[in-house]
Amino acid sequence: MAELTHEPAEGAKSAGTPEPLTREVFLPLWRETLAASPELAAKPEIFSSDEAAEKLFRIAERLTANARRFNLTSILAPRDIAEKHLADSLVPLSILLDCGLPLGEDLGEPYTVLDVGTGAGFPLLPWAAVLPDDPEILSFTGLDATGKKLAHVRESAEYAGLRTVRTVQGRAEDCARKPGMREAFDLVTARAVAPLPVLAELCAPFVKPGGFFAALKSVPQAEEDGELGAARPAFKKLGLGGQSSGPEIFRFALPNGAPRSLVLCKKRGLTPREYPRRWAEITKRPIV
Ligand code: SAH
Repeated sequence: MAELTHEPAEGAKSAGTPEPLTREVFLPLWRETLAASPELAAKPEIFSSDEAAEKLFRIAERLTANARRFNLTSILAPRDIAEKHLADSLVPLSILLDCGLPLGEDLGEPYTVLDVGTGAGFPLLPWAAVLPDDPEILSFTGLDATGKKLAHVRESAEYAGLRTVRTVQGRAEDCARKPGMREAFDLVTARAVAPLPVLAELCAPFVKPGGFFAALKSVPQAEEDGELGAARPAFKKLGLGGQSSGPEIFRFALPNGAPRSLVLCKKRGLTPREYPRRWAEITKRPIV
């Protein structure tokens, strides 16, 4: 097997075991990524602290070390981790903060965030790394159907010293019917899990009325006349949006120029009990 460097040739990225990631390699790349991301550079107190950099390094280090064993991701070159996993998770957080979501504010009870299909822990782990590490202020739950991915998330959270992170194993469509999970979260997010109408049905039942659903998407999928347009009836039936509550699209670019978007929508009422349906129903007959 060819020996891989930190910048493997195209096509070699999914092969082999990556070299262990070191601070010497990661930290300068992370500083470059911060400088090239206006939404991150605008809030240095959150995104540019040495403490955040160390936690993000530890998350990146565990990702590199565990990727093969847990089948986590093929995006593993250090610069790609910085841009396509970390900045891709953190720029939407910066936008949510600009929208006034009180992540990190002392509200007298924890602000609860659910990441549906968290996989290797994105966006959950980077968010927990840069926001206050206080379980009385924030509570992050990573939900995934795959237990070994969640074992990686827990290991990473422990290694990075994140006290606000917990995991729940199960399918979203089953968990959304459980007391303590249905209509229980202030913010429900997801990255790279399903097309928007499917994702909305999986995520909306978890959102408290008055809370938010935030989908991290690549731009072409979320264009008004494309995926978001198709998802509008689903949003409405699920209790999402309407009047001035969205859905709203925020567009941004990664430092490498790749277009991304964040779809944000407030939940106004309860989600009807019939949702979410069984997985086969959700995917075969999306809400129209
Ligand atoms: N959010 C991560 C992982 C994306 S891969 C990232 O952006 O890197 C999609 C993940 O969603 C997988 O880990 C898969 O196990 C999980 N998933 C897909 N459908 C699911 C469902 N219905 N319930 C729970 N998890 C699901």
